[in-house]
Formats: sequence, C-alpha cells, structure tokens
Amino acid sequence: MSGVLVIAEHRQGELREATLEALGAALELAPQTGRQVVTAVLADDPQALAGPLMGRTHGLRLMAHPDLTAFNPEMYLPVLEDAIAAAEPGLILMPHSSQGMDLAPALAGRLGLPLVTDCIGLTYQDGALTAQRQVYGGKVSETLVLKPASMYVCTLQGGAFEAPETSAVDTAGEEITLTELSPAHARRFVEYVAGALEDVDIAAADILVSVGRGIGGPENVPLAEELADALGATVSCSRPVADVGWLPKSRQVGTSGKTVRPKVYLALGISGAFQHQAGMKNSGTIIAVNKDPRAPIFAVAHYGLVADLFEVLPKLKDKLAG
Ligand SMILES: Cc1cc2nc3c(=O)[nH]c(=O)nc-3n(C[C@H](O)[C@H](O)[C@H](O)COP(=O)(O)OP(=O)(O)OC[C@H]3O[C@@H](n4cnc5c(N)ncnc54)[C@H](O)[C@@H]3O)c2cc1C
Repeated sequence: MSGVLVIAEHRQGELREATLEALGAALELAPQTGRQVVTAVLADDPQALAGPLMGRTHGLRLMAHPDLTAFNPEMYLPVLEDAIAAAEPGLILMPHSSQGMDLAPALAGRLGLPLVTDCIGLTYQDGALTAQRQVYGGKVSETLVLKPASMYVCTLQGGAFEAPETSAVDTAGEEITLTELSPAHARRFVEYVAGALEDVDIAAADILVSVGRGIGGPENVPLAEELADALGATVSCSRPVADVGWLPKSRQVGTSGKTVRPKVYLALGISGAFQHQAGMKNSGTIIAVNKDPRAPIFAVAHYGLVADLFEVLPKLKDKLAG
C-alpha cells in the first residue's frame, strides 16, 4: 500500500488530542507499509495549528481558506478529494469523533472505498488491512480482515492509540492557499456550543481518581476530591454515579461516557462492568480498591486492594500529607 493520510481535527482554533493519537496509529503502521505519514490540516489558518504536528508526521499538507474555520463536511469533502489524489494514500485515518463519524462514511461513499470505524488496533497482513474493534458495548472484541483494496478509510477510538513523541520523525510541510471553494448548500456552521456539563476533560487527565457506587452517596464524593487534589488528579466516575447526579455526566468513564487513557487510574468502589472497562482498560497503571475480591475490576487492575475504601482513603491522604 501507499502511505497513510491523517485528517487533522481542530476546534475553536486548537488542534484536538485525538489527531495526535491518530498519528500514533499512523506511525505504528508506517514501518509495515514502508511509506510515509502525511497529515492534512484544513483550516482558515492551518499554520497556527501545525506546531503539535511537527516531528510527528513526515508530511504536512496545510490547506487554507476562510470557510474552513470550523468543520463542515460539504467544504471538507472536495478539498480532501484533491489531497487524496495528491497523496495517493493506502489508508486514510481520522478520530472516531462526531467529525469523523460524519466525514468518514461520506468520504468512503464518495470515493467508493472500504470503511472500518471505531478501531482500537490496525495491522497489514498480505496487503489487506486487519482491524480490531470492540462490539456489543465492548463485550466482544472482533478482528476484521478486510478484502484487499488500494485504499481504506478508518476511524479510531479515542484513547486507543498513544500520541507519538514530538521528535518521532522529520516533518516537511507544504502550504496551499485554496482560492476556490464552492459554498456549502445544505449546511453552514452557525456557532460552537460547548456541552453545558463539560466542566473538565477527563480524557486529558494524567491521573484519574474514579469513584463508583461504592462511594455510597454524594456526601462522600469530597473524600475522593480531596485525594485527587493531593495527587494533582481529576475525579471521574462510573455511570450510576453520573446517572444519579453525584458527579456531572462529563466525568463518566465507559462506553456511554468517555474513553480515557491516563497514566494512573485509581478505581474506588467500581465493580468493573465491561461497559466501564471498555473506557479505561488501556490506562497506564490501574489500581483498584474494592471490598469484593471477585469484582471484575481486578481482572484489569495492575494493583488491587481488597478493602473498604473508607478505610483506605484516610490512610492514603495521611501518607500524602506526611
Ligand atoms: C448500554 C449500557 C451502557 C453503559 N455504559 C456505562 C458506562 O459508560 N460507564 C459505566 O461505568 N457503566 C456503564 N453501564 C453500567 C454498567 O453495566 C454497570 O452497571 C456500572 O458500571 C456499575 O457501576 P459501579 O461499578 O459504580 O456500581 P456497582 O456495580 O454497583 O459496583 C459497586 C462496587 O463497589 C464496591 N463497594 C461497595 N462499597 C464499597 C466500599 N465501601 N469499599 C470498597 N468497595 C465497595 C462493591 O463491591 C461493588 O463492586 C452501562 C450499562 C448499559 C446497559
């Protein structure tokens, strides 16, 4: 196959972390393909977004037009068709975000390409792409061997791949000012409305102190918050905790919440149902505190403590204070 084309994602003038994760996936595949990774940035001022991409992509294709300030598939599709014709990639990667879910099928449909979504692993075998995905809410892992094709479109699950180091490769850039861009007919960007409960991005945290139903009630959540403060961590939770409003929905980890990959994930009173595990099992170090030795969380924990969290928390806090 030819190289890998990564479609960069940005919002409100900032490159999204998921783009760097896509570059991690692309660079993992580069040795298998023997070809290079090119990143396409479509924006009003793509140069301003290029900083975090330097050293993480072999080629940069910066495409500038005032109408590319915010994502609009009607604007992206024709521009990308040109970029794809120029780069002739064997694989087109993008995050499995709301943007990727909109763009990838449209692009695949328009170009008649095979599409595989929400991938957690990608490899090439005998010229055909093999993709790992989680299905049935993360209960089943499947490996799909796609029919050989000259080009594939893939979206990647958030948190499934690691961003590469900033000096992974040498980057050569190319800037293109688009003079003609057909106006969108059906859709136009009106404004960005942030989710009301998006108080903090748990996916960006290095350390998460995560609480489950075992925390007992909202009156005990401050115990976890104090520990998080002492550790420089962020508090996250399982779904029941968000459902009853002990913490905002934005803090929920799992299939119907967020996928996280912190360096340390401390699970307090979380049973570890597969819907929860699907959102955190790729964390660097998982530490679980649960009074039930048969709790499924221990199957993915690197360190497990069968104990009452209300006994463990004060001791941990004392240790950190001392
Ligand atoms: C379609 C669908 C989507 C879902 N999406 C998600 C999702 O995104 N995220 C998610 O988390 N769940 C999700 N769920 C729910 C999931 O199936 C579980 O019900 C949920 O994860 C359980 O949360 P929990 O571990 O906090 O609670 P429980 O399963 O009730 O576990 C509480 C745990 O705390 C322990 N415990 C109790 N007291 C203490 C104590 N004092 N000290 C130490 N341990 C204690 C118990 O032993 C127990 O293991 C989803 C379910 C469905 C059907």
